[in-house]
Amino acid sequence: MPDRPIKILLVEDNPGDARLIKETLSEAAADQFEFACAERLDLALEQVAQHEFDVILLDLTLPDSSGLQTFEKMHTQAPGIPTIVVTGMDVEILGTEAVQKGAQDYLIKGQVDTPLLVRSVRYAIERKLLENQLLQSNRLESVGELAGGVAHEFNNLLTTIMGYTQLGIAGLSPEDPVCSDLEVVLRSAERASRLATQLLTFSRQQVSEPKVFDLNQLILNTGKLLRSVIDKDVELVMLLSPDLDLVSADPNQIEQILMNLVVNARDAMPTGGKLVIQSTNVNVDQAQADRWNCPAGKYVSLTVNDNGIGMNEEVKRKVFDPFFTTKETGKGTGLGLSICYGIIKQNGGHIEVDSEVDNGTTFKIFLPCSTQTVSILPQSQERRDMPNGKETILLAEDEPMIRSMCTRVLFDNGYKVLEAANGEEALRLAQNHPAGMIDLLLTDVVMPQMGGIELTSRLGESRPDIKILLTSGYTDEALACSPNGSMPFLQKPFLPSALLSKVREVLDS
Ligand code: ADP
Repeated sequence: MPDRPIKILLVEDNPGDARLIKETLSEAAADQFEFACAERLDLALEQVAQHEFDVILLDLTLPDSSGLQTFEKMHTQAPGIPTIVVTGMDVEILGTEAVQKGAQDYLIKGQVDTPLLVRSVRYAIERKLLENQLLQSNRLESVGELAGGVAHEFNNLLTTIMGYTQLGIAGLSPEDPVCSDLEVVLRSAERASRLATQLLTFSRQQVSEPKVFDLNQLILNTGKLLRSVIDKDVELVMLLSPDLDLVSADPNQIEQILMNLVVNARDAMPTGGKLVIQSTNVNVDQAQADRWNCPAGKYVSLTVNDNGIGMNEEVKRKVFDPFFTTKETGKGTGLGLSICYGIIKQNGGHIEVDSEVDNGTTFKIFLPCSTQTVSILPQSQERRDMPNGKETILLAEDEPMIRSMCTRVLFDNGYKVLEAANGEEALRLAQNHPAGMIDLLLTDVVMPQMGGIELTSRLGESRPDIKILLTSGYTDEALACSPNGSMPFLQKPFLPSALLSKVREVLDS
């Protein structure tokens, strides 16, 4: 169910009936529903072409269409939107027929009260979601089988092509012009083989080597690589839950997913934006598990969110299809997300997308938790010797490499870290965390938008309990700005050990 008002398209030519439906629904909770109205079918079809709706309430008898064909025309135009038809008492049979043809439910005029209407709307949305997910996974399943079969055959053929080409090259003198021709053949065959391998991943026939590991550690280990693919004006924020359960999956494959999602997010923000990578523990109940076709239980979720161009309904529907791309030739292969889909399914998890045009995109991945407690990924060697803690630190630093290094060091040593690229963002993050939840502000002095000194004084007004540690490349700056020169200060450049010692010292002071 969307966590915003449900958008309803009310197709009804009788203003009295339309008002009645609105009032009946609003009786439950006025702010739960948003209405758009159309008195004719042609106007309703225009509306669904231009706007997004969660549900359609469709009177079958309209000035420009009547009977079952009203539903059929609407369903052809908007097959993905759950539709509830509204009929008169004398033609109830039409309601049943519409349900057989794909409507979610039918209501009879004059026999509708608030609980019935609210339940019908909610069930319609839930059922359609389930139906769409089932349709999507069945479709991807059969495309996967086909793609996997083709890829297998191709790999066999390519093995022969590559083998004999190499033998041919070996039998020629390097100066022979045929030799360079054959090398081109070999390189092309290798490229084709990589493509076939990607298809095998989508169809889940690629060898997966599941291991038990800490997803946070994997994200942090990949951080440098991720930062190298995003543009400078894309801000990367990591919100990693400190007590994350371990997962069982193939870490190389999960790294590949993370990379694919980050590259897509970058492409969706050509003029810059914000990319948030988040991890957290999730309990999946039976109802949700049935929808995902996974077992109920504990999962770890990885969310990659951007505030880029977003997607329309059609793109969202096809996003996991192999070779579906909206990128220009040469830029996209359309295989990135199908590979993500295949990997996640192979690892017993679930992937979903939430996106709106101009409103960014969120990909959510759920991986099953492991019952084991030992991660195969290396923890920081420094951990045992270094002063550590469990407190929450708000880190404001505009230089992405330093920010990521600090986050990594602090996180590896037990702290929870909230990252901000400047003072304004740090203030926003602080506002979202109740008093007492942030223990220390670690801030650079000079930052765009709002520097560290203004930040400390603004934060100090509302949250005098937060301890402060300034960092800067210039001692003078901090001394000049710190009111009596007594504010704790860490000189850049600093080593992880120095950062940890100073943080502990300030927290304990
Ligand atoms: P490719 O990146 O090669 O196009 P993908 O399978 O990774 O292939 O993505 C398929 C399509 O999904 C993209 O072409 C794009 O239209 C859409 N898409 C994926 N991620 C995003 C995103 N974060 N924001 C907007 N559109 C996206």
